[in-house]
Amino acid sequence: MSLIKTTSVAVMCALLSACASTTNNSVSGVQRSQLLLLPTSTVNEMSSQSYTETLQTAKKNNTLNADKALLNRVTTISNRLIAQVGVFRPDAAKWKWEVNVEKNDQLNAYCMPGGKIMVFSGLAEKLNATDDELAAVIGHEIAHALREHGRERMSQAYIQQFGLQALATVVGGTAGSMAAQGAGMGSQLLFSMPNGREQEREADRMGLELAARAGYNPEAAVSLWKKMMAANKEAPPEFLSTHPSSENRIKDLQALTPKVMPLYLAAKSK
Ligand SMILES: [Zn+2]
Repeated sequence: MSLIKTTSVAVMCALLSACASTTNNSVSGVQRSQLLLLPTSTVNEMSSQSYTETLQTAKKNNTLNADKALLNRVTTISNRLIAQVGVFRPDAAKWKWEVNVEKNDQLNAYCMPGGKIMVFSGLAEKLNATDDELAAVIGHEIAHALREHGRERMSQAYIQQFGLQALATVVGGTAGSMAAQGAGMGSQLLFSMPNGREQEREADRMGLELAARAGYNPEAAVSLWKKMMAANKEAPPEFLSTHPSSENRIKDLQALTPKVMPLYLAAKSK
């Protein structure tokens, strides 16, 4: 990063107090400060709209919640995870969470900003995933939302696009026009940009802790990624291609597992 860029980001942070961690520190040790320029409400509105459109399309194609048993499983697991999100950020307990399953062969799942969860049926069917393994994936995706990684990516893109001009706008106090510009960038930016490597690492770590707190065996995260790798020797799915190298991620998860294991055992004995 150039000096000018570093300086402008530092100035922006000082002026906006926009560089804070979205979540409380906890066992998994995720506490990086984030540049969050765009208002949460702007990002969440875009997310909600996009999610609604996705549901409508899936409904039209008869691919929405076609498998009731799988929907029940995914909903139960998600609700147990959601019950623990207050540890990381109390406000998230009051989000308008939604959980749906789309009939789709891809090994994928996501949680859009504000708590809009979608699990693709391929994940459960093709991998024969256990509840613990599904919890590992959904926990990872929920962690992205808790950390507001989408909003962070948009904020970074905003600076790249508008640069110092954005700073002037913000200092000028016209946050409304900034939000309008941000929305004008389109949800495409928000939802097509892959998470960065550090964001993925955070989602892995926080997701592991979230699953453990919800009473799901954290060891399932490693078995899940191994299954994914095996299933995708030929063509890596989108989910893996936007995620960090599998070996590093497995090492990282294995190192953190003993630390969250007591949380899992405590949750299970309740
Ligand atoms: Zn991810």
